[in-house]
Amino acid sequence: ELYNKVLELKGNIQVFCRCRPLKPEEVAAGTLVTIDFESAKDGELTVMSNGLPRKTFKFDAVFGPQANQADVFEETTSFASSILDGYNVCVFAYGQTGTGKTFTMEGTVEDRGVNFRTLEQVFCMIKEREKLFRYDVSVSVLEVYNEQIRDLLVSDSQPGVAAKRLEIRQAGEGLHHVPGLVEARVHNMSEVWEVLQTGSNARAIGSTNANEHSSRSHCIHCVMVKGENLLNGECTKNKLWLVDLAGSERIAKTEVQGERLKETQNINKSLSALGDVISALATKSPHIPFRNSKLTHLLQDSLGGDSKTFMFVQISPNENDLGETLCSLNFASRVR
Ligand code: ADP
Ligand code: MG
Repeated sequence: ELYNKVLELKGNIQVFCRCRPLKPEEVAAGTLVTIDFESAKDGELTVMSNGLPRKTFKFDAVFGPQANQADVFEETTSFASSILDGYNVCVFAYGQTGTGKTFTMEGTVEDRGVNFRTLEQVFCMIKEREKLFRYDVSVSVLEVYNEQIRDLLVSDSQPGVAAKRLEIRQAGEGLHHVPGLVEARVHNMSEVWEVLQTGSNARAIGSTNANEHSSRSHCIHCVMVKGENLLNGECTKNKLWLVDLAGSERIAKTEVQGERLKETQNINKSLSALGDVISALATKSPHIPFRNSKLTHLLQDSLGGDSKTFMFVQISPNENDLGETLCSLNFASRVR
């Protein structure tokens, strides 16, 4: 509750910036670093070029190359309490391919990310509250690729070819949902882990280049929580969306043709639609353009209103990535 009061003061949109460390081969090559973390203390970060400060950005938190998964999660444990307290929550990882979006969200087996840690926290809090509340938790894992939705918990589906075409529908109460999408009921963390692994494996299967495919699609985990207050019988039904976005790098139209061009246009369209929606919400614009992409349409009920939005802007410290880094930081400033 205290957290939600704090958030009210901060606003419903929070932006975190995370910078990956230099890779050993970058260090070996004597790569110059463009981010000044000395000034990162109060959520500020300065981008350097040619050794001079170029632009300073301010975020709700900044995680430098030294920050580990636990440090990041410490700042974000509120995702779990928000959903159990009856809010809808969206968490996005945005940035150029290779900057750590998947590392932050999914993490590795040894070093698990936000998805796993948030669910772990959800189950931990459910246990703490079991005398007062009863909760049901289910998880869906899906991908949006080329403006098509694919269910990653259905084993026979192939990247880019939706086994059965999944569409977004609006139910009687006006809420959006995807009929036919698998909602896996989970009772504990070992079931959660199984579902996360199934989703992660399905994402890679069938594509000739798993990394390339994942950089061009949005990978989405939706955690659905139904709660019942055992004292007064009040019920809540909320969604937490955990979104590993497609790579934000700009690809020159002259470099790509055919299927690849369509892919590029769809990525640009959905990332700019997301930016438009979040900045329209931040400025309290009367018209929020949810329908401009599958992604924003899908998340419509969980963006705006009293929902909470969190964005990780992932960046590279490598001087060669300076252009993309500035683009990502500008995007993030626009939504904040
Ligand atoms: P993206 O999903 O944005 O394309 P990845 O998450 O796949 O990027 O990260 C690219 C590589 O960098 C991976 O090998 C990942 O493990 C590593 N990496 C990214 N961020 C970090 C970090 N903060 N600490 C350590 N390794 C990282
Ligand atoms: Mg990735």
